[in-house]
Amino acid sequence: MDNIIRIAVQKSGRLSDDSLSLIKECGIKFYNGTGKLKSTATNFPIEFLFLRDDDIPGYVADGVADIGIVGENEMVEKDKQVTVVKKLGFSKCRLSLAIPKSKHYQNLQDFQGASIATSYPKILQQFLDKNKIKADIHEISGSVEIAPSIGLADAICDIVSSGSTLMMNGLKEVEEIFKSEAVLISHQNLSTEKQDILERLLFRINAVQTGKNNKYLLLNAPNDSLQEIVSLIPGMKSPTILPLAEEGWSSVHAVVNEDRFWEVIENLRAAGAQGILVVPIEKMVI
Ligand code: ATP
Ligand code: MG
Repeated sequence: MDNIIRIAVQKSGRLSDDSLSLIKECGIKFYNGTGKLKSTATNFPIEFLFLRDDDIPGYVADGVADIGIVGENEMVEKDKQVTVVKKLGFSKCRLSLAIPKSKHYQNLQDFQGASIATSYPKILQQFLDKNKIKADIHEISGSVEIAPSIGLADAICDIVSSGSTLMMNGLKEVEEIFKSEAVLISHQNLSTEKQDILERLLFRINAVQTGKNNKYLLLNAPNDSLQEIVSLIPGMKSPTILPLAEEGWSSVHAVVNEDRFWEVIENLRAAGAQGILVVPIEKMVI
């Protein structure tokens, strides 16, 4: 069926909530009852497959799903032929090497001849080869953190976000080997019709993401500081300026990027801006 695109998303886990929120923020409505493995949107030509994240790269490579949302770690580890369409900015984590807390760590050479337990043998092997380290990789599918304490391995290579799981298991992170976030991937040969649907979806995702990265700023400024205040705002184009009912004052409206946000606000206050309001933007099309 070429008039509908099929997307694979994680059924339940650390990717699923953010994946589904993003789709919902794109204005796409669908039913997602517990236990349901397939669903079709009511107002956009998209069908959902709810799967384990391990299976998503393979399904997209085979064309069972046209597109999918998966962590870069899983995508690289599975090493399937897929195209990365867009980085999505959520489920950020890293793959790191960790060793028992009590052990002294000098540098990567410490891993020479060591045994390392991991669920990511390919990514780890690539890293070790690149650094000319010969180590023994033990592939295990879960609970990797306990491997050193039960004598299975000298070290582990696993996903870290805050590091608290490592700490609880008496381990310390010593080398980061891979950075990951959720990505939208696609099959390598989509039909023109499916490609068009993907473009429509991407347009919406971009609008949602740009909106999130920007804030709508409103403030009041005395007319004699207006020029300076306007010069401080790094707007999309030029800000909107409206006269206030009170003589000698104006209201200034602009869109400001989140990265520079606090710095801009501080400068505006110093230049005499008052009644500064900051409003989230739901969608933004540029
Ligand atoms: P499944 O049952 O679907 O196979 P899983 O147990 O393999 O799930 P999750 O723990 O749900 O996987 O993690 C899914 C993805 O989320 C990981 O592959 C990684 O990209 C990312 N991730 C993992 N841990 C974290 C974390 N602590 N913080 C943010 N993102 C994470
Ligand atoms: Mg998994």
